[in-house]
Amino acid sequence: MKVLVVGGAGYIGSHAVRALEESGHEAWVFDNLYQGHRGAVPADRLIEGDLLNPADLAAALDKSGAEAVMHFAALALVGESVTDPAKYYSNNVVGALNLLDAMREKGIWRIVFSSTCATYGVPPSSPIDESMPQVPINPYGDTKLAIEKALDAYSHAYGLGVAALRYFNAAGSHHSGEIGEDHDPETHLIPIVLQVALGQREHVTIFGDDYPTPDGTCIRDYIHVEDLCSAHVAALERLEQGQMMKLNLGTGNGFSVKQVIDACRKVTGHEIPAVMGERRPGDPAALVANSSKAFETLGWKPKYTSVEEVVASAWRWHQANPNGYAN
Ligand code: UDP
Repeated sequence: MKVLVVGGAGYIGSHAVRALEESGHEAWVFDNLYQGHRGAVPADRLIEGDLLNPADLAAALDKSGAEAVMHFAALALVGESVTDPAKYYSNNVVGALNLLDAMREKGIWRIVFSSTCATYGVPPSSPIDESMPQVPINPYGDTKLAIEKALDAYSHAYGLGVAALRYFNAAGSHHSGEIGEDHDPETHLIPIVLQVALGQREHVTIFGDDYPTPDGTCIRDYIHVEDLCSAHVAALERLEQGQMMKLNLGTGNGFSVKQVIDACRKVTGHEIPAVMGERRPGDPAALVANSSKAFETLGWKPKYTSVEEVVASAWRWHQANPNGYAN
């Protein structure tokens, strides 16, 4: 299939491009390079443009000859979504609706959409399955849920085949060592801890140890980015017209902030000083996926199940590229 990967120069999008090509598909990238990196994608497959400009989208769908779309291009910083919600509604909601309009105009009906466990807000219990209520607690989660709902309605009315994939915590890097995680600013736990190991930061601050978890720090489900992307390809290949898949993507294993820091110490051999800080607003105590629906629907399973393997994969990229794509 010819696939337009919207946001394909970003962290997860660039790994999806590799996963598509490794499965024999032809991947094209549409990206405005706001957060994405030119170095993360093949130059002859990059179409620069903006989701907020419908003419750019129409041109990209024509040039790529796309039969399907994967949509990764969204802003994803919870704190920024609280202080500047207009930016989030514009990019994440208006941009996605523009994409759906452009697809309808060209008769393209397959879409895989990056959704998030943030749509569950503070879940009533953990692990989380897809039947739990979706009650986001910040504008970022609201924008993702708004698009899930639009996709539901569009699928029903216009026959779109949709996979809305609710990610837990993506981490790690491609086995080739050629692409990895490079955010500015970096806010995610694993890259921050590895920056301490590289001597780029003096310490990591643990955001609270008074949560109702065994060691008091927050628990998350860290899924390797290659596992995440192989699930995208499996979903794409199974989509049927008018179908709406809503699937959690996680490993089912939760690790606390302290356990992640310990894994990073073990993998890097660095002592990694940690300082206790305040809770970060909006952080639920535990977010762990029940992904059995994805296992059954997609015939898929994550290959990486230990957080140490995920950290080791991230560490290879960060060690070789201490300044990310700026190298
Ligand atoms: N975290 C932390 N210190 C940091 C960054 C993150 O203690 O410098 C914690 C954060 O509060 C959360 C977990 O690490 O409990 C994972 O955070 P991240 O931002 O990587 O992903 P999120 O779960 O917010 O999507």
